[in-house]
Amino acid sequence: MGHPIVKLATSGVQALRPYAPGKPLTELEREYGIVDAVKLASNENPLGPSPQVLQALRSGFDDLARYPDGNGFTLKAALAGKHTVAADCITLGNGSNDVLELVARAFLSPGSSAVFSAHAFAVYPLVTQAIGAQANVAAAHDGSTGPRYGHNLDAMLKAIDADTRVVFIANPNNPTGTWLDSAALRAFVDAVPQNIIVVIDEAYFEYVSEPDYPDTMAWLPDFPNLLVTRTFSKAYGLASLRVGYGVSRSGLADVLNRVRQPFNVNSLAQAGAVAALEDEDHLHKSVRANQAGMQQLVDGVQALGLSYIPSVGNFLPVDIGRDSGEVYEELLREGVIVRPVDNYGMPGYLRISIGLPEENQRFLQALDKVLAA
Ligand SMILES: *Cc1c(COP(=O)(O)O)cnc(C)c1O
Repeated sequence: MGHPIVKLATSGVQALRPYAPGKPLTELEREYGIVDAVKLASNENPLGPSPQVLQALRSGFDDLARYPDGNGFTLKAALAGKHTVAADCITLGNGSNDVLELVARAFLSPGSSAVFSAHAFAVYPLVTQAIGAQANVAAAHDGSTGPRYGHNLDAMLKAIDADTRVVFIANPNNPTGTWLDSAALRAFVDAVPQNIIVVIDEAYFEYVSEPDYPDTMAWLPDFPNLLVTRTFSKAYGLASLRVGYGVSRSGLADVLNRVRQPFNVNSLAQAGAVAALEDEDHLHKSVRANQAGMQQLVDGVQALGLSYIPSVGNFLPVDIGRDSGEVYEELLREGVIVRPVDNYGMPGYLRISIGLPEENQRFLQALDKVLAA
């Protein structure tokens, strides 16, 4: 669209619609002249990172002139210990988005296809489209045989064709908050031919306490084509540092590391991530705060007579029952940023990230006011 230079781009890039991030607080404050706005739009940890992370970052200031360790030795060693895998099974990314993109770059091409669910995380269609590969989008559950909007694994299996090279699964998924249990997901991975890469994106892993939630890392010995991705952006509270990773067998990690930029994770991010892993108390505190905040939001939206999709993440998809774009705009005027998800094929829904108790309260009061008007 627009400038003629766009026509010089590859056809995949020409058709690309860029990722629409949550509105930054500073932007709302600039545009609306609001001073005490609240952002519940990007699934960030409202407690912020562990204090130990801040200390690690300060010590990193002395070395800013040096390139980072391109192999991420210390962080990989810490992750290898945590997951009881060898360090060469780990791929570090500038956020786990980076790892998803490495998968696309290494395994997709024009003429091949990627399979993912409708209403799945927006980065899967993006990285697929950027390559010019085909997206085989499987219909989600309609509510009859699984949670409405949740991944339908039977439909995903059927969406695999001879050209499919990658399958993306978010567990739990964002923005739906739905999740897949161990037996169902394992049966799916078993059924996918091993010449297809299966990516299981576990960005919200730390928040999930369901007993049937899968331990996918334990499956790695059986699947050379399996990649599990995790991130420090959500429960660890390091979204701005941009650090995530994939765990797989070493063969797959070798391929991904070939296309990785040599210094994709900066020194501060590496040091911060190592410190974050060491502070398990802060992680548990964050998870408990999320559980309490989730209950507060669920109670609050129910009291307003609204329905929602039960979520195991740090966000709640709420059915506003009317044009969510309008309600989103009116909430902005009240100084509350949430996330409209009509671009995910969920018109009428807003996704609310769990915040601090007073932030959740601000949202509920603003929503009450907006819906009453
Ligand atoms: C937030 C999120 C990510 C993580 O993104 P980062 O690049 O690690 O910040 C990955 N997958 C899903 C489903 C997410 O919601």
